[in-house]
Amino acid sequence: MKSIRTIQDGREALWRITEADRENLFRLLFHRYPDNEWGTFFRFGFRRTRWGILITWVDAIKPESGDLDRSSSLVEFRPAYIRRALAALESDELAVGVIHSHPQDCAPFASRADDDMDSYFAEEFERFGNGRPYASLIVSRAANRELSFNGRVFDRGDWLPVKNCLVVGEQLFREKACLEYEQFSTTREPAANDEMQERLAQLLGTGAPQRLRNSVIGVVGCSGTGSPAIHLLARAEVGELVLVDPGHFKSSGHQRNHASRYADLSSNPAPTKVALASRLVREVSPTTKVTGFVGDLLDEVVLDELVRCDLILGCTDSNYARAALGDMASHYLVPVLDFAVQMRAENGILREQIGEIGRYGPGLPCPWCRGRISVEGIRYETATDAERQFKAAAAAEAEQRGVDGAQYWGGTPPPELTVGYLTTVVGAMGVGYAQNLLLGSGKLPHNRFQFDLGFSSLGVVADERPARADCACRRAIGWGDQARADRSVSQPSHWTRTTIILND
Ligand SMILES: [Zn+2]
Ligand SMILES: [Zn+2]
Repeated sequence: MKSIRTIQDGREALWRITEADRENLFRLLFHRYPDNEWGTFFRFGFRRTRWGILITWVDAIKPESGDLDRSSSLVEFRPAYIRRALAALESDELAVGVIHSHPQDCAPFASRADDDMDSYFAEEFERFGNGRPYASLIVSRAANRELSFNGRVFDRGDWLPVKNCLVVGEQLFREKACLEYEQFSTTREPAANDEMQERLAQLLGTGAPQRLRNSVIGVVGCSGTGSPAIHLLARAEVGELVLVDPGHFKSSGHQRNHASRYADLSSNPAPTKVALASRLVREVSPTTKVTGFVGDLLDEVVLDELVRCDLILGCTDSNYARAALGDMASHYLVPVLDFAVQMRAENGILREQIGEIGRYGPGLPCPWCRGRISVEGIRYETATDAERQFKAAAAAEAEQRGVDGAQYWGGTPPPELTVGYLTTVVGAMGVGYAQNLLLGSGKLPHNRFQFDLGFSSLGVVADERPARADCACRRAIGWGDQARADRSVSQPSHWTRTTIILND
């Protein structure tokens, strides 16, 4: 008999699953309730990170007749089922784990028999999978339907505790694993200054402020739409913000940026946008933790932190960032709200004041499905200066020969002319939708929509097209790093990889 000890050095495992998959899974696991357990092998994608390991649910390798012993009240995996699960390791790079239920009202803690099973499986699956991790999860449900779970992941010799499960659906749940010591402890999370969130609690219930305090939200892009979003998230006292922006503050951004001060205009060198945003957060909500990256979301270090977020807000206006966010949504099951603005005027008269909000998530159409981004756009954004100069010269030459050079070689994108009221409207609206997804208090009216402030009835246009059947976003949902070959964009080698990390 081997007893298993999980490591306690701060590293942990995080489990992500879609709401639909979780419902199907529970139907299977609880079908012999209240007295009898049930279980299944399952496939998962994974990503080893600085903080531990992410495991993303792919599918169950469901037990077939004779795979589990129905005459036993416990879960007993028969050799043929184990062989089938081991064989699943051969077809791709995904890992395999086990999930089983404990009887109704029983705690989801590993028994001696579970320890024996896990010791045996961890060794077998690691060996057959050439070092891939093995996961073991236990769930149970109380008579009042309340769920509890616990789990551990074996990777490279260590057992990491599963501390949280993030469930992605119409509502976004963050569920804490049941830890054994909590059984004997009555301490609860400290109630912060509840008067500050009194209005929110009165409107949406007393649990609402705490749900926000338990959330981690990523914000990619910290100026136009990003800075008002960050500002409101700080006022809502969210638990942690992961801020990403490679850029430095410029004077022209001052009228849009909620984080900059007049004094910042003359500071030399110019502060980074991430530094300004994190100063704003610290001043508004000192309890909100900030992890900031002066860097790009294509950097693997940044990705490590973004995949543990409840939700990411896309506040950039680039093709490659949207492509990367779409990849994260489908491969790592991280929901994304993507914001955009566009303004156009002729002779001092506004023709366009467009705001756009869209949602990416597992199973939802990605930016490619929606025709939102282009290969040419990404090529331009990720090109070196020399490549851009070469293309511009080639386009000019083509022009001289009477060919449309811009069409062939790709033109220089026009400068983005947006002003603060519109970026603030969109950033603030977006945070509203983000909070409602976290609280289950409201939905987006459409998976993607645009409006124009100058049009009658605000000119709302919805885009409800489904994901394209042949698009890569449907192929590797939840595959984690094992979907690497399906990523639609990767970091160009000429980009600087240095990232500064601010940990408040
Ligand atoms: Zn058990
Ligand atoms: Zn797609």
